[in-house]
Amino acid sequence: MNSGTDNGGFDPGLNGLPPLALYVHLPWCVSKCPYCDFNSHQAPSKLPAREYVDALLADLELDLPLVWGRTVHSIFFGGGTPSLFSAKWIERLIEGFRARLRVSPQAECTLEANPGTTEYDSFSAYAEVGINRISLGVQSFNNTLLQRLGRIHGCAEIETAVESIQCAGISNFNIDLMYALPGQSVVDALDDVRQALNCAPSHLSFYQLTIEPNTAFHASPPELPNDDAAWDMQEQCGELIKESGFRQYEISAWAREGFRCRHNLNYWRYGDFLGIGAGAHSKITLPAEQSVRRRVRQRHPGTWLKAMQTGQWLAEDRLIGEEERVFEFFLNQLRLYDGVRKDQFTPRTGVSWDRVSVRVEKAIESGLLIDSNGVLKPTSLGWRFTNDIQAIFLPSGV
Ligand code: SF4
Repeated sequence: MNSGTDNGGFDPGLNGLPPLALYVHLPWCVSKCPYCDFNSHQAPSKLPAREYVDALLADLELDLPLVWGRTVHSIFFGGGTPSLFSAKWIERLIEGFRARLRVSPQAECTLEANPGTTEYDSFSAYAEVGINRISLGVQSFNNTLLQRLGRIHGCAEIETAVESIQCAGISNFNIDLMYALPGQSVVDALDDVRQALNCAPSHLSFYQLTIEPNTAFHASPPELPNDDAAWDMQEQCGELIKESGFRQYEISAWAREGFRCRHNLNYWRYGDFLGIGAGAHSKITLPAEQSVRRRVRQRHPGTWLKAMQTGQWLAEDRLIGEEERVFEFFLNQLRLYDGVRKDQFTPRTGVSWDRVSVRVEKAIESGLLIDSNGVLKPTSLGWRFTNDIQAIFLPSGV
């Protein structure tokens, strides 16, 4: 752990604070999906809901001095499967946040949910306690593919969940959908997208299944569609989503007008976020210290709960160095189809533009980026070789 006093090379150009978001990690799921590398764990037979909620509020209090007086613009309950926590617990948390923080009355407040983990009327209960956005982990509408993914739900549970969201009057809802699933054809993928669109979501997260280390699929890999088939799925499904009135604003995110996810946009624009709960990350700008601080909580829920008693709840606590800030800024912003506003660089990183101008020119000369009136965007070549762009901004020596 490093809590040194180095100011990380902040440029005096730092002015003001970026927007602040609050992330709340609720780490349990009914069972662990074989492809999942998130910090999620099979729920014990009795969820320690009260103990965990109390610890979350205590965790927030420990970090309040980092964010005194700032307004929170979004709250995101992620996991895991936050919908394993009843509306009563979510209410207790939201009330606890409002008592301790200045939460904007217009704050976007998202709850991740999985079909099959809520009662029919629970979304109404969540809406009543302040949830105004749902992100539903559907992944596929094909029961065979869902089984291969180890999901606990089928089409019937998806239908019930979507009806429940609509009955609750929550018009801002996302469907998570994956493609390039084991044994999936392009026709199957298109069918999944059509069924998702029929549910009338305001947002779609459409992303490719990848095999990550430390997952059951990594230990015993299923046969996946080849790269050409995956590319066809991405292209053809993308066309279909676009024709249905959605606009792609990030590599995997599509939204109807006015429904982009504000919480995720804040990450991608290199805003500040306070994360509480097992394994949660924070990134907080501290202008008085001319620094940006990163904190990471103990990852395992049991370890974090115990550590909250002993004061050792942080696994990492350090200042983010200048080169790392530059890399993170571009890594995140270049995911966005609106591109990178050059005038946001110094306020968000505290680094002078001169420090990156040569690298940006190099990316432009290589045909990977274009500069359009002060906004940098990947070219079509750049979108195909995002790793090459990222490499240009890697901290030196990496
Ligand atoms: S439900 Fe989501 S978070 Fe939970 S194990 Fe499956 S993929 Fe991971």
